[in-house]
Amino acid sequence: MPSQHVLVLNCGSSSLKFAIIDANQGDEILSGLAERLGDESPLLKYKYNGTKQQLSLPAGSAHQVAILQLVTLIEQLSLTNQLVAVGHRVVHGGETFTRSVLVDEGVIAAIQATSTLAPLHNPANLIGIEVASKAFSDLPQIAVFDTAFHQTMPKTAYLYAAPYRLYREHGVRRYGFHGTSHYYVSEQGRQILGLTKENSRIICAHLGNGCSVTAVLNGQSVDTSMGMTPLEGLVMGTRSGDIDPGLIIFLSQQLGYSMAEVDTLLNKHSGLLGISELSNDCRSIEEAAANGDAQAQLALDIFCYRLAKYIASLVVPLGGLDALIFTGGIGENSDLIRANVLKQLQFLGLDCDSEKNTAARFGQAGVISSDTAKTVALVIPTNEEWVIATDAARLAQEV
Ligand code: AMP
Repeated sequence: MPSQHVLVLNCGSSSLKFAIIDANQGDEILSGLAERLGDESPLLKYKYNGTKQQLSLPAGSAHQVAILQLVTLIEQLSLTNQLVAVGHRVVHGGETFTRSVLVDEGVIAAIQATSTLAPLHNPANLIGIEVASKAFSDLPQIAVFDTAFHQTMPKTAYLYAAPYRLYREHGVRRYGFHGTSHYYVSEQGRQILGLTKENSRIICAHLGNGCSVTAVLNGQSVDTSMGMTPLEGLVMGTRSGDIDPGLIIFLSQQLGYSMAEVDTLLNKHSGLLGISELSNDCRSIEEAAANGDAQAQLALDIFCYRLAKYIASLVVPLGGLDALIFTGGIGENSDLIRANVLKQLQFLGLDCDSEKNTAARFGQAGVISSDTAKTVALVIPTNEEWVIATDAARLAQEV
């Protein structure tokens, strides 16, 4: 099969992740990250042919400059002519986008309209689309949405018990995120286990800096832990996940917090960092706990307890469970967290084979439950870039 190279762009609020992926083989031709955008000393780091390089960008450079530098780099490496499309990760597609789409003016206007729901992310994604459209004017631009996979959730799962008019007039509802990752690992898991699409009940735990769990029934998302924003649900690196909404009232009325301060507290100072008072990084917390740090141990215990509780609750919409999949930086690498969670979920027929669990690290996919477990536990490395590349290559062919 001939190669089909796709440039995948993921514009965060102050960073740009990029990769050139061969959509047919899944090979990564080029990958990298421009970080500290808008700061004194932004950097563009990349890996090509197994070699890592780094370029300094002028002080204060934002996404535009980083993308233009990337365009120059792609030209210098003689990779431009092989590109068939540019795929953009877009965080929020609201209710408008249920699948990936070819970008046109209507799509740009709809992404703009959804920016109120993701004010930090969608504007950055739009800059990526605008600059790439100019730089690669003869290539189709494709938008792939983090929320799209969850658009199959029923109203019972996605509505809050708040006045209905908030949903009708302002789109207040649960949307869910990490959709590309949940889609990819649930499909991979289904294929590894030989389950048919019509008869599969899978829960995916995407555990990275952001964490979410999703119930996938017969190939479709039916519920997920993140909500209108990526703050709801599990304990994360710096995000609180679920709290009593009354806490916000308390912080405001009793402690005099402004809304901006509440935002920072719950999004940046909570989660593993908030409890451990040490770090948001799971690896550092595991090391500290192993050295007897009680606060770090407490952070891990709360992380695992909330995760186990959420997984168990998602068995309700599935009516049973065939497989539990771990993915993301923590899910793929932390045998400790996987073992802890599986121990708490033995009543679901799950168990943990410690040898297989320890072996499943560093990009290795595989089953980590015993041969006799009623419900299978697996580790599957996620590959959102590949999903974006394959969607983009497929839609580019339809142009
Ligand atoms: P991600 O956002 O998917 O890149 O995941 C980042 C998280 O994965 C951080 O909390 C890391 O500490 C965690 N992580 C990466 N490797 C390991 C490891 N070997 N053990 C525990 N956590 C890890």
